[in-house]
Amino acid sequence: MNRILVVEDEERIAAFVAKGLRAEGFTPTVVGDGITGFDYAMSGEFDLVILDIGLPGMDGFTVLKRLREEGSPLPVIVLTARDSVTDTVAALEGGAADYMSKPFRFAELVARVRLRLRTTSETVVNDDLAAGDVRLDLRSRRAFVDDREVDLSAREFALAEVLIRHRGQALSREQLLSHVWGYDFDPGSNVVDVYVGYLRRKLGADLIDTVRGIGYRVP
Ligand code: CA
Repeated sequence: MNRILVVEDEERIAAFVAKGLRAEGFTPTVVGDGITGFDYAMSGEFDLVILDIGLPGMDGFTVLKRLREEGSPLPVIVLTARDSVTDTVAALEGGAADYMSKPFRFAELVARVRLRLRTTSETVVNDDLAAGDVRLDLRSRRAFVDDREVDLSAREFALAEVLIRHRGQALSREQLLSHVWGYDFDPGSNVVDVYVGYLRRKLGADLIDTVRGIGYRVP
């Protein structure tokens, strides 16, 4: 349940998505046009499709429509520009697809991918992530310390999620930036350090260790 077809003609975004998916244990295949995307999606070799709308050959709407006409039940997550969200939602009605508006945060995309794959396979998985006294409810996106709810922003939650998911592993600032802030980040930014500070204040100072010369780790 981890073979993902990425149909995206913008190389920078395709590479960003594929790299991130690989790091999360998925097996991505990238194609850059709608016709190939449709053929690959129909091959039976994939578990989920991430589909751009503006594509050469055949646009994403047509790809989705044809997949459904052919009876393909494959879960599809559509990538769309922020200013055309309304059109997209209208066009997706009945297409049984999810959508993400660009620019998107990788953590959010992965959360949707996991959710879609889970819905498809109906496997029972634990919706909680925990480290020490801290527990994250991934379904409701709520955080708890000792069963007391703590108010986290979406970005704080995403940062806590990626750190706890990779518990025991040191993650670099660059990895955290690309996971939580998306592909339009400034590698020189200190925003990761600032947000780690927020999380330590809200969830406990000893939740996150600083790993000198590398980044951060949840022990
Ligand atoms: Ca495009």
